[in-house]
Amino acid sequence: MSNKARQQAIRDVEAYVPPAVSFIDSEAPGEVFGENVFNQVVMQKRLPKSVYKSVTATIEHGAMLDPAVADAVASAMKDWALEKGATHYAHVFYPLTGLTAEKHDSFFEPIGDGTALAEFAGKTLTQGEPDASSFPNGGLRNTFEARGYTGWDVTSPAYVLENPNGNTLCIPTVFVSMTGEALDHKTPLLRSQQAMGTHAERILTLFGHTDPEHVVSYCGPEQEYFLVDRHFFLARPDLLNAGRTLFGAKPPKGQEFDDHYFGAIPERVLGFMMDTERELFKLGIPAKTRHNEVAPGQFEIAPMFEKANLAADHQQLLMTTFKTIAKKHGMECLFHEKPFQGVNGSGKHVNFSLGNSQVGSVFVPGDTPHENAQFLVFCAGVIRAVHTYAGLLRASVASATNDHRLGANEAPPAIISIFLGDQLADVFEQIAKGPATSSKGKGKMVIGVDTLPVLPTDPGDRNRTSPFAFTGNRFEFRAPGSMQSVAGPMTTINTIMADSLDYMATYLEAAVAEGTDFDQAVQTLLTEIINEHGSVVFNGDGYADAWPIEAEKRGLANLKTTLDALPELITEPAMELFEKYKVFNHREMHSRYEIGLEQYTLTIGVEARLTLELGTTVVLPAAVRHQTELALNIGALKAAGVETDTSTLDVVSAPLAELRAALVVLKDALDDDGHHEALAEAEHARNALLPAMSAVRAAADTLEEIVADDLWALPTYQEMLFIL
Ligand code: ADP
Ligand code: MG
Repeated sequence: MSNKARQQAIRDVEAYVPPAVSFIDSEAPGEVFGENVFNQVVMQKRLPKSVYKSVTATIEHGAMLDPAVADAVASAMKDWALEKGATHYAHVFYPLTGLTAEKHDSFFEPIGDGTALAEFAGKTLTQGEPDASSFPNGGLRNTFEARGYTGWDVTSPAYVLENPNGNTLCIPTVFVSMTGEALDHKTPLLRSQQAMGTHAERILTLFGHTDPEHVVSYCGPEQEYFLVDRHFFLARPDLLNAGRTLFGAKPPKGQEFDDHYFGAIPERVLGFMMDTERELFKLGIPAKTRHNEVAPGQFEIAPMFEKANLAADHQQLLMTTFKTIAKKHGMECLFHEKPFQGVNGSGKHVNFSLGNSQVGSVFVPGDTPHENAQFLVFCAGVIRAVHTYAGLLRASVASATNDHRLGANEAPPAIISIFLGDQLADVFEQIAKGPATSSKGKGKMVIGVDTLPVLPTDPGDRNRTSPFAFTGNRFEFRAPGSMQSVAGPMTTINTIMADSLDYMATYLEAAVAEGTDFDQAVQTLLTEIINEHGSVVFNGDGYADAWPIEAEKRGLANLKTTLDALPELITEPAMELFEKYKVFNHREMHSRYEIGLEQYTLTIGVEARLTLELGTTVVLPAAVRHQTELALNIGALKAAGVETDTSTLDVVSAPLAELRAALVVLKDALDDDGHHEALAEAEHARNALLPAMSAVRAAADTLEEIVADDLWALPTYQEMLFIL
């Protein structure tokens, strides 16, 4: 990279004209919703009645799919897709890299007379065999049985993805090994959904809902992201290859003014948002809110909540769409949890609830939650689950990239606790001592201006520092990282909820069978749970220094890094839990653990090599040139007999020496490859590579503030964050 890269990027950014976004009427977002989705409306029109009924039973009530219907669905799907201009179909799956994978095949098969016919049999729809042996499998596949199979997920509708080079029919699928073990994010989510539903229905039955509808989990993910001009992005090999800046001094003006948060959205970004929204609408993704986030260049989108499995697929599709459309607008969309050191990172808040169309969300408290026993039982279930399996929740969000964010006083700390809000906390405090007799009501906010309406205050108020918060009609898990799939956290939430609901249903069913008064049994159960698990409830400031100390006293774990969290997956109780609810067997748990370690090591390895390369080939030469110029200048001045201050030379020479030394240490750490076990390798990455990278960066960032601007090749934080 020449030292002109940055200057050229700045000129290119200045000259860049973003594409105009104008919507012709027929393409207004409202009109196009679901246009490219093979949804139930389309199916009802195109499928024979009996087939449609059978498919709907699977989608809505979780019934087993009748294999006989596949041919009929495949044929209708193919005709529909061809009409939409599709030439290929793809089984889309979600391997444990966290990305989305697709295997494309042509619809058209030669029929021997020189022509080709569009073929798409039920068999092709339901099962695929991608040659995908290089996806991480954590030992689940030996090379001789390296095949992985994809299987149609009827509950997530197929869609047509548009592309200037031809459209593709995309079919969401699970990805499993020959022996049926999960190699992806979707399979366990579906399994956990089933387990949670079964036990939630037992609770509803106890509360008098005869034959309750299938209970599902709903998820509404809030996605934070950064946009940077692509010219700058391309001039930053670290952003390009690692997704985050490995160098960069803090800008003179950071986010301290808070002037970006909810500020006016820049015109160019608005164009991008309108464009993405329209594309998401076509794909049936209910994108709803959009606003600026805390950091400059940071934004958020929150689609409306959907069934968790669908929300997870849509979330993945949203990320792909954002990436593609950002490019079209001359920008790069960054999903990394911490693209810029010292600037707020990005999360993906997982809002979730349980329910069905009969009862809505089971977490709706009503005006007097202390009288709403069913609501209290489900909430107690959450309290018990989060307390008992806090380590698993922490492990479900563990990654090298999210480590930069958790506990950095901008995202919840790594200590998993629950925020209940004033009203609910008060109700549970009463329950701890016996029956609850009152609920703090909604207050009224008096603004003091006669023309303004009196606003109700929300008893389920907000606390943004809690990793797990009750937010009025749902819970919000705030620890997930912006880059990760929501399927992982949702799988854990479903499974630990299945365990709590199972426990409570068993307790209550036994009490009823023994003739105990039901209300009395509920009361006793709630009191027992809050007394045993109430220590996980924390309504205070999660960023305060006192909290980790207090948390330790309460016996709550503080699993700071990924390597502290991942072993939670292979503890005996964790493996028993997932096995009991048929979400993961022991082999699958071990494979997830291994893959977690492997991904961690790979991520840090790439970053370390990039740090070494950029430090050596970009930062060091710039600093040396600067030093040489200064030295020549001082020499020339001395020769001319001009009095001169040589300390300016020391100012650059000292950090330059530090940089050189740090690069040697980093290189040695990278060359030290004597760690063969996955855990030892990961520990080496954490204990040797990360500190060595930090030392290189510290010296380089000092140099950035000293070296002549025209010699500095990397676009600065100032430029990347504030020019859009
Ligand atoms: P906030 O920023 O106040 O947390 P947002 O409006 O940004 O809220 O996002 C809230 C998210 O929660 C949205 O995705 C929304 O669809 C989702 N949500 C709302 N109600 C529920 C619910 N009952 N279950 C699951 N998710 C929900
Ligand atoms: Mg939000």
